[in-house]
Amino acid sequence: MSRPMRRPGTLRPEQRTRSGRSANADADAVRQALACEDCGQQQAGGLCEACGCRRRTEALIVEAAMVAATWAADLGDQAGGAAGRPQ
Ligand SMILES: [Zn+2]
Repeated sequence: MSRPMRRPGTLRPEQRTRSGRSANADADAVRQALACEDCGQQQAGGLCEACGCRRRTEALIVEAAMVAATWAADLGDQAGGAAGRPQ
């Protein structure tokens, strides 16, 4: 039994992946070449790890502050409503 060793399934996806990869790699290289917006570090992809981490932390703090403010307002509203709202 001698079958021709043709593997069309292995060649085509590989070529597709290669061309897709090179396009993505180019975009990644351009992105990576950007300096950090916050501290100006080169090759930081627009934002270095430290500044990215700081931004996430700041965003979390703002979010937590807003949740706390909403919560406090709710508590105040409930207390004020129970005392002063005629029903
Ligand atoms: Zn930075």
